Amino acid sequence: RVNQNGIFLLGPTLMEYGTAEQKERFIPAMASGDEIWAQGWSEPNAGSDMAAIRCRADRDGDEFVINGQKIWSTRAVYADWVFGLFRTDPDSTRHHGLSKILVPLNSEGVTVRPIPQLNGLPGFAEIFFDDVRVPAFNLLGGENEGWRIAMATAGFERGLMLRSPARFQQASKRLVQLYREHGSDVIDPSIESAVVRCYMDAEAYALSTYQTASKLCSGGSIGAEASCNKIFWSEMDLLIHETAMNLLGARAEIEPQTAAEFAELGTWLDGFMFAQSGPIYAGTNEIQRNIIAERVLGMPRK
Ligand SMILES: Cc1cc2nc3c(=O)[nH]c(=O)nc-3n(C[C@H](O)[C@H](O)[C@H](O)COP(=O)(O)OP(=O)(O)OC[C@H]3O[C@@H](n4cnc5c(N)ncnc54)[C@H](O)[C@@H]3O)c2cc1C
Repeated sequence: RVNQNGIFLLGPTLMEYGTAEQKERFIPAMASGDEIWAQGWSEPNAGSDMAAIRCRADRDGDEFVINGQKIWSTRAVYADWVFGLFRTDPDSTRHHGLSKILVPLNSEGVTVRPIPQLNGLPGFAEIFFDDVRVPAFNLLGGENEGWRIAMATAGFERGLMLRSPARFQQASKRLVQLYREHGSDVIDPSIESAVVRCYMDAEAYALSTYQTASKLCSGGSIGAEASCNKIFWSEMDLLIHETAMNLLGARAEIEPQTAAEFAELGTWLDGFMFAQSGPIYAGTNEIQRNIIAERVLGMPRK
């Protein structure tokens, strides 16, 4: 899981767009966990509006020279490499003139500055690039074609790879168990309905994921409907954890310290806090709703 940016996001993109030499160079070390990857897309003024990316990679012979800043890069503090989206055509605007480039984080001119989370752990980092030179070999796909390739990565992230069905099936089963233990203390009938809903949604999500996998196996691709998937799993994760917190009542807010507290409270509080970020990362749910409205339902842009 520590290399999920590699295996789940960059790996499938390399399989689709990488050269034979790039696949040979990067995939084995990614699969073995010898090289850990971070994703470098967001910038201080380019989050939802990713086409506003300003971080530049200027071509200089058979190298790129990178200058600028990325932010919110998950696990960049521990990573060896970052795959980033950079502006390679200085005269371009919006989603034109961007390229996807793979950058070793130990390159001269790279500074990785941790961003502490509420719990103190450095889950994210800012990455600063100051005249960082990388070989043109590290360009993934065509020069100035980065947007199309990044959208393929986003499709894998939202549509199939990032959140495995087993994760939610297990959580919903733990929720049913929690209900068996605490349900008799709860008087609000909507909690019982929520437990049933979570169980059904987790099973439905598994079936939908198998359907997507079958589609890919028979030569299909993941399109804008990946946005429906992303909204579904992130909202399901919130409901599972909110329901668990309701079942546990006031004790839900205790961070377990002892074996007895772990046995009683499990990891629900940690999961609840992490679930809050689901509607934000991999593209916010508001943006996914825009994509569904425009590209799946053909509704007009406003
Ligand atoms: C847990 C986590 C991990 C992350 N990991 C990474 C990573 O590894 N690499 C990386 O590059 N980034 C990462 N991010 C950053 C993430 O991609 C951005 O936070 C996200 O794209 C939103 O951008 P922003 O934070 O700049 O918010 P903004 O874009 O400023 O959005 C603020 C609010 O406005 C809403 N909004 C903006 N535009 C519109 C619109 N057109 N229509 C409707 N609503 C709109 C948004 O939905 C949001 O609610 C991570 C974020 C989180 C929470």
